[in-house]
Amino acid sequence: MMSAHDNPFHIAQQQFDKAADLLGLQEGIREVLRVPQRELTVNFPVKRDDGTTKVFTGYRVQHNLGRGPAKGGIRYHPQVDIDEVRALAMWMTWKCALVNIPFGGAKGGVIVDPALLSIGELERLTRRFATEIGLLLGPDRDIPAPDVNTNPQTMAWIMDTLSMHQGHTVNAVITGKPVLVGGSLGRNEATGRGVSLMVREWARAARTDLDDLAIIIQGFGNVGGIAAESLDQMGCKVIAVSDATGGYFRRGGLDIQAMRAYAAQHPRRLLEGYQEPGVERVGNAELLEMPCDVLIPAALENQITGQNAGRIRAKVIIEGANGPTTPDADAELDARGITVVPDILANAGGVTVSYFEWVQGLQSFFWDEIDVNAKLEKILVDAFNQVYTLSKEREISMRLAAYLLSVRRVADATLIRGIYP
Ligand code: NAD
Repeated sequence: MMSAHDNPFHIAQQQFDKAADLLGLQEGIREVLRVPQRELTVNFPVKRDDGTTKVFTGYRVQHNLGRGPAKGGIRYHPQVDIDEVRALAMWMTWKCALVNIPFGGAKGGVIVDPALLSIGELERLTRRFATEIGLLLGPDRDIPAPDVNTNPQTMAWIMDTLSMHQGHTVNAVITGKPVLVGGSLGRNEATGRGVSLMVREWARAARTDLDDLAIIIQGFGNVGGIAAESLDQMGCKVIAVSDATGGYFRRGGLDIQAMRAYAAQHPRRLLEGYQEPGVERVGNAELLEMPCDVLIPAALENQITGQNAGRIRAKVIIEGANGPTTPDADAELDARGITVVPDILANAGGVTVSYFEWVQGLQSFFWDEIDVNAKLEKILVDAFNQVYTLSKEREISMRLAAYLLSVRRVADATLIRGIYP
């Protein structure tokens, strides 16, 4: 059960307040940026395979539209709630501003455990949810993307549904689509690849060899699984990973390729039942506290808290997930000299290539993967350098430095446009 203490929206507001104080933002603009601009709650029926009807609840929240149309993923999870979606939408605003792409922040979610639905039920739920929130969506208005438990197939159904309503294909209304129907090469891998670039850039700044790094990753889905693969290819040693079914550890390094292949053929993309000589099972809580160089939380919010931050034995935390570290944990990690590369920087690779996908869709002109990856790398490395340099200059955490840069940009954009009417 979530307490007020780990309510993600309260956490997002605390993080914002800290930056706003340091920036000396005036009260009016603070009030504007502290809350989402629009929130839509939908309760909608879905026909089950057995002929009964079930009503589901979903949300779409747009935090800020000052720098362009809203952008943000759609999550399917039993623990989705309005405050989680608000927090995720606000974080999207800062993330887009930090990597300087012309979007505001949004997020959506449905309270559902998709593992309990058949594929047909999941498709009907997706199409009806897309219809319900469709009044907010559009290539110039709000462009969703995948998040936890949604994937390119989900995005294809949403694109098709909205296109059916228009009577023609509307490609740029959603990103993270399969390449066959207007997706971008490199989009599926972009978030995980970005996370691995952050590890590389941190190692460069810390003058550490990539081959010497022992890495632990929580979550083995789109972000964690691809980050693991990419880091493995870079020569790092991934010693432990986990998913919703628990953790897997081998001191000498795991066979990431074999684990990826195993999860790919599992009906729910899990490592459940995976066996390999020398691999030990570990609990999820235990996994976070094992000694390593780089810890990558890539599952859900509130994983590193005041309760366990004192026991974290990593040199750096690279936040693949959104909101994995609470403010009290941040303070403790800071005091202990553990660097945190914050979510709004570390997992910005996904939205960056979503931006490329949107641009390609609008122009109906598609780039090759080398081009996509080179442009992604440039944006992320520049953003890392800006955040890292500011954090050193001001002697502040990388999270606070990232917030100073991004909140300033959003505040300035809002102020220069002026308050309507
Ligand atoms: P996903 O559904 O593909 O994967 C989630 C993974 O986390 C799965 O392996 C799941 O089994 C695991 N998991 C769930 N509960 C867990 C637990 N208690 N302990 C350990 N593992 C657990 O989702 P994803 O797209 O990889 O998203 C993961 C995180 O990254 C989320 O915070 C999301 O908001 C963030 N993110 C995703 C993207 C993207 O492009 N997909 C972009 C930016 C940020």
